[in-house]
Amino acid sequence: MKHLNASQILAIDKNHIWHPYSSFMDPAPVYPVASADGVRLYLSDGQVLIDGMSSWWSTIHGYNHPALNAAITAQISKMSHVMFGGITHEPAAKLAQTLTEITPAGLDKVFLSDSGSVSIEVGMKMALQYWQSRGEKDKSRFLSLKRGYHGDTFGAMSVCDPVTGMHHLFRDVLTPQFFSESPRCGFDAAWNEDFILDFKQTISAHADEIAAVILEPVVQGAGGMRFYSPMFLKRVRELCDQYGVLLIIDEIATGFGRTGKLFATEWAGISPDIMCLGKALTGGYMTLAATLCTEKVSNGICLGEAGVFMHGPTFMANPLACAVANASIELLLTSDWSTRVMNIEQQLTAELAPAKDYNHVKDVRVLGGIGVIEMKNPVNLPIIQKQFVDKGVWVRPFGKLVYVMPPYIISKTDLSFLTSALVEVLKGVAH
Ligand SMILES: *Cc1c(COP(=O)(O)O)cnc(C)c1O
Repeated sequence: MKHLNASQILAIDKNHIWHPYSSFMDPAPVYPVASADGVRLYLSDGQVLIDGMSSWWSTIHGYNHPALNAAITAQISKMSHVMFGGITHEPAAKLAQTLTEITPAGLDKVFLSDSGSVSIEVGMKMALQYWQSRGEKDKSRFLSLKRGYHGDTFGAMSVCDPVTGMHHLFRDVLTPQFFSESPRCGFDAAWNEDFILDFKQTISAHADEIAAVILEPVVQGAGGMRFYSPMFLKRVRELCDQYGVLLIIDEIATGFGRTGKLFATEWAGISPDIMCLGKALTGGYMTLAATLCTEKVSNGICLGEAGVFMHGPTFMANPLACAVANASIELLLTSDWSTRVMNIEQQLTAELAPAKDYNHVKDVRVLGGIGVIEMKNPVNLPIIQKQFVDKGVWVRPFGKLVYVMPPYIISKTDLSFLTSALVEVLKGVAH
């Protein structure tokens, strides 16, 4: 096969390839990466970048990890894929067993799918089928939080923040859902019942129509990188029980240690009825997601008119993805991940603090392995991206949010390199 050089890649890319949220008319620059190892991305032009993004929450062990490489190559010589209808296999069985063991109590049934957004569709569909089976057909809508993000497919989009999710573009096709105010209580805030008031009013007024509440636990990610009090989540669980509404928790970003707990739901000590996992599930090697539910939900669905759960993607439980997920989870659980994440938290807190004094910075906040600098105004992405690359780091801001969530294996020195580049670049941002 003929190799392409960097300028050929860029030319083809510019002519033919969509990037996330991109335009062909006014394309933002893209950087060709030739390889990646540990916490470093190697660009085609020889530049080396310390990765601050974990490829969107996913590469928690870093790139090119020997144990993950070994797991996936061992599986490839057995089978890369086989259909899941009427067939099962060891990688999927192992993964399902592990997931039911490590997630909050009661989540015993596992549906494996291709991506985070699909796992959300699956979770929403589970909730709808559950109430349909029980003859409560009016319970067909969802309650979510403003500033939430749950993916880009239609069901997922309908429960994303109505403004940043650009609902107006798809007004005529999106199912209208209920939204309550984004939690105003910071992670450490002393609890006050006022914080839950709006949510409580919405769920009590519309419980007859609501199939499930869907939210991100403790950290609202792509919708604003906001952290909120676990008490809010605890109260949500109580209110869902009180009003007969299912609770779907979207752990796609927060799962597998990122917030300092294995699952962010643990901060509240509760269990949802349905939970979605993705992103770090395979250590960032392959796309795979899981929707877990309780026996109450699975029984409800299976006793209903359809008798089965109506979903079945072609690449369901892909063996390569399951094998690497098994290796990634084992690596995580046998590592001192919680100390690592705590150390990252302390270092981010100390080293991002200087940005608090910049008058164009609105807020600096850190939770677990997530560091966020919220600007007063949106940053100029192409310009700031180049400044980060020139300084040798990979940081990808959106809007007013400049944030990092490095792989857990990052060394103290590399993390300092990343944070000082971040703080220096932001110091120079015009305001
Ligand atoms: C990324 C993300 C999704 C969507 O996952 P994809 O794999 O991109 O489809 C859903 N929910 C949350 C909280 C996410 O961070």
